[in-house]
Amino acid sequence: MSETADSPATGFSLELDEDIRDVRDWAHGFARDVIRPAAAEWDEREETPWPVLKEAAKIGLYSLDFFANQWLEPSGVGIPVAFEELYWGDPGIALSITGTALAAVAVAGNGTQEQLFEWTPQMFGSPDDIKLGAFCSSEPDAGSDVSAIRTRAVYDEATDEWVLNGTKTWATNGGIADVHVVVASVEPELGSRGQASFVVPPGTPGLSQGQKFAKHGIRASHTAEVVLDDVRVPGRCLLGGKERLDERLARAREGRSSKGQAAMKTFEASRPSVGAMAVGCARAAYEYARDYTVQREQFGKPLAENQAVAFTLADMATRIDAARLLVWRAAWMARNDKEFAQAEGSMSKLFASETAAWVTQNAIRLLGGNGYTREYPVERWHRDATIFTIFEGASEIQRLIIGRAVTGLPVR
Ligand SMILES: Cc1cc2nc3c(=O)[nH]c(=O)nc-3n(C[C@H](O)[C@H](O)[C@H](O)COP(=O)(O)OP(=O)(O)OC[C@H]3O[C@@H](n4cnc5c(N)ncnc54)[C@H](O)[C@@H]3O)c2cc1C
Repeated sequence: MSETADSPATGFSLELDEDIRDVRDWAHGFARDVIRPAAAEWDEREETPWPVLKEAAKIGLYSLDFFANQWLEPSGVGIPVAFEELYWGDPGIALSITGTALAAVAVAGNGTQEQLFEWTPQMFGSPDDIKLGAFCSSEPDAGSDVSAIRTRAVYDEATDEWVLNGTKTWATNGGIADVHVVVASVEPELGSRGQASFVVPPGTPGLSQGQKFAKHGIRASHTAEVVLDDVRVPGRCLLGGKERLDERLARAREGRSSKGQAAMKTFEASRPSVGAMAVGCARAAYEYARDYTVQREQFGKPLAENQAVAFTLADMATRIDAARLLVWRAAWMARNDKEFAQAEGSMSKLFASETAAWVTQNAIRLLGGNGYTREYPVERWHRDATIFTIFEGASEIQRLIIGRAVTGLPVR
């Protein structure tokens, strides 16, 4: 957010600079013209929308370059602004377009520069040969409780390979991805501090897709189990490298503090982005309900002329703007290495996701019977919105994190 000629140097500005505005408008155009018209079809089909991904890749929107540029954008709001527009188009399709980025962020957050350059291009491929990435942390018995991960990684010194065994669940793009990033336990007795992240390269024997889930919402995004059966990956696939891991484990054994809790680190970096997804979904439903109630008449006047309706719209607009501001603040803090002293990243995700759930539910109400049918998109957005309150740490977990941060107590 740079200073412009007509804005004085106040040291604070919410004005987006020209580059971000251009990306926003470009992403919005794609969301409006390509994503939204395809949304109902792919929701019904419950499949990855390959033709839409191809279109996105053709214009450079599904590409490593695009995500890297937004990620590195100096103000921090590059990703939130782009994600808001894509998820405004349709959350399910948008998750298919952005799901790979979560795996890429795991490599960026835990890997070396070398690993970043080796693996992230292989996650995106090229417009003629699209690839996908998947981040696999959750397990049947380790969802909110990441420390309970049972997938084991055992080092085979003779071959300099890691051997992975376990079952991951709920993986976005799981099993259909080319590159999987897997969080596994190296020393189970150390809980989450004994974990590390591993890249499983394309075509590695032993990795297979388990059950593909039939879901309530975001049905255009593929979610499945990933089974790891004696999966052998070269030593260089351990993100961050063996030396760093050994140091970290030694610190953990001695009970000293460690920065490197692999899965938590990835989640922390991506929480404002999830908030932005929720803002996009909420805004879609709000705009639809606003236009509908301004236009539809009952009792001889537009629905929106009733205070009860206009007040609901007012609350929707206010909550969405508040959510966006929390998201932008957290994204700016992350980019500028500010300490999340009050868990501001979690605050943004908590508030934005609950806002999306609330706004979409009320959008259905404002559309009456129409809102309850699949002829209108708000019921789909409501189904989609619920996921933001669950993945990347459910709302209760965000409250735990914020509660601990603001009280300094080990709240449980
Ligand atoms: C569509 C979809 C896509 C996903 N994509 C991915 C992915 O790409 N990669 C990945 O690794 N994971 C992914 N996940 C998994 C997701 O992150 C987990 O579902 C989430 O962390 C919750 O874990 P759980 O489902 O095991 O629920 P549980 O942990 O069993 O929680 C159930 C309920 O109990 C509450 N709860 C749990 N502990 C506490 C507590 N201490 N205090 C109060 N309440 C509590 C939770 O808030 C929740 O409401 C995805 C999930 C879905 C549904």
